[in-house]
Amino acid sequence: MKKLMLSVAIASALALTGCDGDDGKDGINGTNGSNGQTSLINSTDLAAGHSVCLGGGVQFDSGIDDNADGALTDDEIDDTSYACLPYDVAAEAEITALTVNNPWFKDGMAYIEGALNTEYDAAVSASNYSTASANTAPTTTRKAKNVILFVGDGMGISTVTAARILEGQMNGGLGEENVLSFGEFQFAGLAKTYNVDAQTPDSAGTMTAMMSGVKTDVGVIGVDEDIERGECSTVDGNELVTALELAEIAGKSTGIISTARITHATPAATYAKSADRNWEDISDMPETGAEDCEDIASQLVNFEANLEARYDGLDVDGIEVAMGGGRRHFLPKDATYNSPDAVSSTEGDRTDGRDLTAEWQAMYPTGSYVYDQTGFESVNTASTTKLFGLFNESHMQYEADRHNDVAGEPSVADMTRTAIEILDNNDDGFFLMVESGRIDHGHHAGSAYNALTDTIAFADAVQAAVEMTNADETLIIVTADHSHVFTIAGYPKRGNPILGKVVAVGETAPTEASDGTPYTTLGYTNGRGFMDLGDETNADAGYGMDINAGRMDLTDVDTTTSGYHQESLVPTSSETHAGEDVGIYASGPGASLVTGTNEQSIIFHIMDYAADLTADAEQIVE
Ligand SMILES: [Zn+2]
Repeated sequence: MKKLMLSVAIASALALTGCDGDDGKDGINGTNGSNGQTSLINSTDLAAGHSVCLGGGVQFDSGIDDNADGALTDDEIDDTSYACLPYDVAAEAEITALTVNNPWFKDGMAYIEGALNTEYDAAVSASNYSTASANTAPTTTRKAKNVILFVGDGMGISTVTAARILEGQMNGGLGEENVLSFGEFQFAGLAKTYNVDAQTPDSAGTMTAMMSGVKTDVGVIGVDEDIERGECSTVDGNELVTALELAEIAGKSTGIISTARITHATPAATYAKSADRNWEDISDMPETGAEDCEDIASQLVNFEANLEARYDGLDVDGIEVAMGGGRRHFLPKDATYNSPDAVSSTEGDRTDGRDLTAEWQAMYPTGSYVYDQTGFESVNTASTTKLFGLFNESHMQYEADRHNDVAGEPSVADMTRTAIEILDNNDDGFFLMVESGRIDHGHHAGSAYNALTDTIAFADAVQAAVEMTNADETLIIVTADHSHVFTIAGYPKRGNPILGKVVAVGETAPTEASDGTPYTTLGYTNGRGFMDLGDETNADAGYGMDINAGRMDLTDVDTTTSGYHQESLVPTSSETHAGEDVGIYASGPGASLVTGTNEQSIIFHIMDYAADLTADAEQIVE
């Protein structure tokens, strides 16, 4: 055992005694307890198998030596932290036996091992010098009881910056100085988003990487790159295990929220295995050759049974909370099954006659199925064991358009709050994935307004989670699956309206481009292009208009309205994703592992390490 002594001057103690003697300010130990107190750190070597440091490590106990006996007794310990040696639990786990030799997975494990070795070395070397203090003892190897993964679909760096400025301006500031909720997080890094077979990725491949630690092909869900997209027969043997499944096996509560259809690529990658992201219900699948594959909606409802079937003797209790849109994939193509707030004459798409909402209710008779704002508000989060919310036939509304919904819809922050209130009833913790799916859709439609207002709503959901959880036990990761071809251009002056035309520093009139007309700060490289839809709040209204790429004369156009769609250079039916890196922002135990520029798949490995997901699940399956 090493013992470290260091001195801290306690200002209040000095003030009380009025003593100007040896107060320890100069780094020399206080001579007695009245004119200065000594803070001590004890470090204890831990053998492999320790409950916190599975691979062994060092435990640091710190506190003030109140009785000035030069030793730290148990009642004087204020804080305990650990520097753990790496432990490749995944390499020994039966659950991950199929993936452990996958090169992406191995890279992820190597990343964690490297980061932990660095952290361990830093902690141990700091403990060998008197510069160590209670504040610099390692805290990042605390374990996470809860994990929340927030995915802003399509929320590239330019989207984060523009949303930050818009929120600041909506709050009356100049804007640039504003900080979005996750901008406060202490740790951040960058993710390389490409798919195995695609330079610029889609949400299916990227979310599979984040949820399983394995990069894969574009368009496939929960399966590795040996899959052939659209070929049902290639799924068998290539299924990946997700963080949500590991958490479920480990006895944690689990939840999924999306403002898109709950069967859409991002949420689907938490629970489904599919050769094609488009197999959202059985009517979307090929008529022949896919008989042995289950559609994504059915996989959500059968999640518990499917997971149990994969491991001998496993008994789990299923996903506690699933909320989003996409009701059409759960109902028969028969108007008699329409929900009271249906918009289409026949709401359901299913051609097999199954009503999956009824199947879910039969499976979980004490659970609550809700489909509108009234039902959502009636949920008692203290007593509800399971909640299934499908608030729209297709995607939920854009945040700016939410007030136009037939029977009302909760915001992503509302859903996040309700989910956490239900999930945190479990003493073993929870895993929650929250997706803001419509940031992506706003961009695809060419509407910065909708993309940015959904990003602000997403930041509000992150803030709700921060307020409702304890940073000592909850790892929160905020990231995007990919970016968009969305730019912040020109030389606008400080505080210039972010949705407005460029006005240069010291000027009041818009800057003219070489063609003699003004231009906006925000724009797209491709897409449907300019539209002036006035006070329209639904970006998708633009799909009913002609594609209108290229330069327009914006002299008499108010570009700050909700219905304005930015110019695009290249005409495409829908604006596209972009291939540059996206940000990863993290808070809580394990957050310090988010650093540098890495493959997107490390996000799984960070969550897995921080919450011992594989380690705990393995003990159940053994
Ligand atoms: Zn997209």
